[in-house]
Amino acid sequence: MSLGQSKRWTRAFLYVASFLPDVLYGWPVVLFCRLAWGQDLRWEDGALRCRAREDGWLERTFGEKWGGVTMSPHAILYMHVRLWPEDAEEPMGIQRHEHVHVEQGEAAQLAAFLEALVLLVVLLIVQEPVWATVLPALLWGTGHARASGAANAAAFLRGEGGVGEYGGAYVGSHAEESARALAAPEHDRLHDRDE
Ligand SMILES: [Zn+2]
Repeated sequence: MSLGQSKRWTRAFLYVASFLPDVLYGWPVVLFCRLAWGQDLRWEDGALRCRAREDGWLERTFGEKWGGVTMSPHAILYMHVRLWPEDAEEPMGIQRHEHVHVEQGEAAQLAAFLEALVLLVVLLIVQEPVWATVLPALLWGTGHARASGAANAAAFLRGEGGVGEYGGAYVGSHAEESARALAAPEHDRLHDRDE
């Protein structure tokens, strides 16, 4: 848990590793949601975040059930704002929760970035310049998404969830379980489900 604590310059490496998903979809989605239905856009311990507006479409639809979503390693969208006092001094449970997902995303992107580098070198050595421009970027850009998908798939394969039980595998994934554990006890009061 790093909320309010991580100041090390070495964290810059994690921004390099997360650059593609942050720039391609994480930050654009947060910026778009700020313009359309959001408020309070700011950096929060290294992640660009915004909160849904109470009267906006986002809060009235997804915000009914979801407390927040970490879109890419450094992009967070918070909902459930009606349960979030403006003068809250301590981080809310949902903030601690999403910042666990930030750390998970950074780890996934670090692995993906290094794998992509190795693949790039190999493809250049075997003189495949076309594949070298496509495959490493694909690997790099999808690290966070693939890790999230694999976490849910592994939970499903363990039997944690199933057809007709939407969200079961997601709630049973190690990623969600660890985020919920660190965000307790406020978490349970704040939201039923988030990502
Ligand atoms: Zn979550």
